[in-house]
Amino acid sequence: MTDSILQLDGVAKDFNKFRAVGGKDGLTFDVKRGGFLGLIGPNGAGKSTTFNLISGVLRPSMGKVTFDGVDLSPLNIAEIAALGLGRTFQTPRAFESLNVIDNVMVGLAHAEESPMAALFGRWKPAERALTGKAEAALERVGLIGRRHDAVSNLSGGELRMLEVARQLVRDPRILLLDEPTAGVDPTLQGKLSEILADLHADGTTLIVVEHNLGFLMSLADSVVVLQNGALLAKGTPDDIRRDPHVIAAYLGA
Ligand code: ADP
Ligand code: MG
Repeated sequence: MTDSILQLDGVAKDFNKFRAVGGKDGLTFDVKRGGFLGLIGPNGAGKSTTFNLISGVLRPSMGKVTFDGVDLSPLNIAEIAALGLGRTFQTPRAFESLNVIDNVMVGLAHAEESPMAALFGRWKPAERALTGKAEAALERVGLIGRRHDAVSNLSGGELRMLEVARQLVRDPRILLLDEPTAGVDPTLQGKLSEILADLHADGTTLIVVEHNLGFLMSLADSVVVLQNGALLAKGTPDDIRRDPHVIAAYLGA
């Protein structure tokens, strides 16, 4: 076991001739096992694209991503997720035809369900256990009272929390959240902050993209700043707040 759980080595992503991520030499940084990394930068800096490169939504044009010693290059999204990587999207995604709790149960499908369980008449207890797990996750994100609602009844902020719940039930080893507080009211933001602190305390590795720097800097133990797809700075929240390049490029004050 090495100290780092995720490595980006010279990673770049080109869309036609436009390099969205990587700058001149590709993007290189690593994430400490059990660490909480904040990923920040202006709009268009390449944060969401970086998440897509890590989670297998996009393939790097150059370089490679390694997760806990495994080169992710040949793996697809499902295979990478199965290694213990969870992520949410900047624009929340839900299964419109499923109610709230079934949207969380989807996170558990394939994880514990087994056709053998049905054969041996153990389907119902197994399903009850899964329902209990989904309910616990909904309780945690403040949506337990909405469990039988249609997802179309949820606000944008609630949809984000639903996405978090869908990832929580999978017990990911590393969790990537893309702008989790955007559109989320202060009460749910408080819950989210508690959830992230608890996950961090339990040893889950976190990478969080946020524009709400007050929220992020109080939780993260290190911060990577991207600008035009390249690494502008990396350090502790205090280093980053004081970094003149960051102040000039991004914080603007
Ligand atoms: P951020 O999340 O930091 O705001 P993104 O990663 O979404 O930035 O985007 C980085 C850059 O890549 C932007 O200039 C964006 O327009 C461009 N980009 C992202 N996805 C695509 C795509 N699928 N095709 C072309 N350009 C893209
Ligand atoms: Mg983005």
